[in-house]
Amino acid sequence: MAAAPFRYLRAASFGEAVGLLEEHGEDARVIAGGQSLVPLMTLGLALPEVLIDITGAGERTVERDGDRLRISALVRHADLERSPTAAGACAMLPEAARLIGNVRVRHRGTIGGSLAHGEATAEWPCVAVALGATVQVLGPAGERSIAASDLFLTHMTTSLGPAEVITGVELPATHVREGTCFRELARRAGDFALVTAAAVVALGGDGRCSAVRVALGAVADRPLDVSEPAAVLVGEQVDQRTAGVAAAAVAAAADVRPHPHAAVDYRREIVAVLVARALLEAAARARNGDRA
Ligand code: FAD
Repeated sequence: MAAAPFRYLRAASFGEAVGLLEEHGEDARVIAGGQSLVPLMTLGLALPEVLIDITGAGERTVERDGDRLRISALVRHADLERSPTAAGACAMLPEAARLIGNVRVRHRGTIGGSLAHGEATAEWPCVAVALGATVQVLGPAGERSIAASDLFLTHMTTSLGPAEVITGVELPATHVREGTCFRELARRAGDFALVTAAAVVALGGDGRCSAVRVALGAVADRPLDVSEPAAVLVGEQVDQRTAGVAAAAVAAAADVRPHPHAAVDYRREIVAVLVARALLEAAARARNGDRA
């Protein structure tokens, strides 16, 4: 199907994009990679009268400053699949990137677009919540930062204001003796996942878990921070048994919703399996400088 007619404008900066969004109001949408918006338009589910192309509004940069990594909004999934800076800061980033859609999608779609779209099954929202990322936003009132955990309200709904744009995302690089891992199950390679699991494990000098963060995607209407039930791992050596206990606690506590292709009980089982695997691998990477 073809999209309904629209006016096409190009913004030379994020500031100009905000101005155009204010000028055209709810008839306008920004477009980045177009990999979510264009399908919605061709299905008639989104009918913007004005499209504001932001692909020339800023740089595509992945920069490390000490223990912080800053990824600009226009960075594409494929950039993060290959960036040595991203991989060096956090092993989970290229791992999650290569699970998104297919090669074509990864070469057009952007991290800013994925976060703004707020799809509950998407990889970047789950990663952002697990890592405690902050999202940089520009709007009519100026710049502000939103914690990833406060960005996703429900399926495809975020706390972004109507004329706000995401300009970048900032996240902590993994520390010494900290490891990260992303795991998911999809029915076919490239499909949206049935369950995603992202884990961050820190080990103390005695080799025991000193801190843990876990997020789940695809099971509910937004990514879930399930670090609290996973905290039974703190103080333990991370092995098959203890990772299994923590994963079972996560699976029991998680708000798992029905899915057309998978029963709730089945998805809970998958949560337990993927979280255990992610915790074990993150702990192994913590001993190895977070290298995959
Ligand atoms: P666009 O499609 O351009 O925009 C999406 C929405 O975000 C629009 O509402 C737009 O106005 C808004 N927007 C875009 N950029 C900004 C910004 N900087 N600030 C504010 N608002 C903005 N995604 C996954 O996560 N996992 C998958 O497995 C997956 N599989 C896919 C398979 C196919 C076949 C296709 C077509 C897409 C798939 N996607 C998947 C979606 C893909 O990742 C998109 O790239 C992503 O969801 C949106 O990024 P985009 O840059 O393409 O955004």
